[in-house]
Amino acid sequence: MGESGLKVVFHGVRGSTACHDPHTHRYGGNTSCVSVKPPNEAPIIFDLGTGLRYLNASQNETEIVPFVGTCLLTHLHWDHIQGLPFFKSLLCEETVLEIYAPRQEDGRSLREIFLKKICPPIFPISLSEFKATINFHEVGDDDFMIGNTKVTSRFVPHTGPTLGYRITAANSTVTYLSDHQQPVTGFSLTTGARQICQGTDLLIHDSQYTPAEFEIKSDWGHSTLEFAMWVAETTSAKRLALFHHDPSRTDDALDVIARRLAGVAKNRGFEVFAAADGMTLEVSGVV
Ligand SMILES: [Zn+2]
Ligand SMILES: [Zn+2]
Repeated sequence: MGESGLKVVFHGVRGSTACHDPHTHRYGGNTSCVSVKPPNEAPIIFDLGTGLRYLNASQNETEIVPFVGTCLLTHLHWDHIQGLPFFKSLLCEETVLEIYAPRQEDGRSLREIFLKKICPPIFPISLSEFKATINFHEVGDDDFMIGNTKVTSRFVPHTGPTLGYRITAANSTVTYLSDHQQPVTGFSLTTGARQICQGTDLLIHDSQYTPAEFEIKSDWGHSTLEFAMWVAETTSAKRLALFHHDPSRTDDALDVIARRLAGVAKNRGFEVFAAADGMTLEVSGVV
């Protein structure tokens, strides 16, 4: 048989900040990091949150496994980059990481910003001292190829320059929209957001707030669970992964939400689930 669809692994699903306590350990407390493995090609990572530490990890603490692949970074907020200096593969000369991230409005290069964030006294060494090769690529509303994988990047509403991504390989499509400001009144989508979501096999979408929380935090850059459901329905997505869970959202609350929304989604013609750290699934657009 060999490989067919896209293998998706959720390494970190939590929004805003890492958390760990008895009430969040089942869904997990690592921040945004998802890997996608197209058949016979190098992996693609969405975001570099604390979940990155578990990608390519070896059981043997002294073993360092090289990594050659790409990261599609949505934006530079802490929770999306904090895993980078703890990615053990960076200690290895054979590692080559190509990071695609949004072009900044103030003209600063991505390399310049990362070198200023990962350096003493904030971190013991500078990013430039890691043995790995890290290349940065500045993108915006673009369409490009990584090997045989088609990538569509579009600016989406959040706070600061932020991209959503759609990748297509092996007749399967995954859309990653981790941080997405829903309109303060009414539901609508920007053209770019609609383009990357339309008809996707798996939509990984910001679902940080309940409607009551959104009332208080309506301009914090995020979406409600209901908006994520509406985006999936209105763009005919086949499966919705609730993602970027609020750090205050307990496992029990997520269980209740996932159960309730699964029934709603079924009536609307798609599937929904709450993503959890360590969850693995296969996405295949072929029916
Ligand atoms: Zn975030
Ligand atoms: Zn953010």
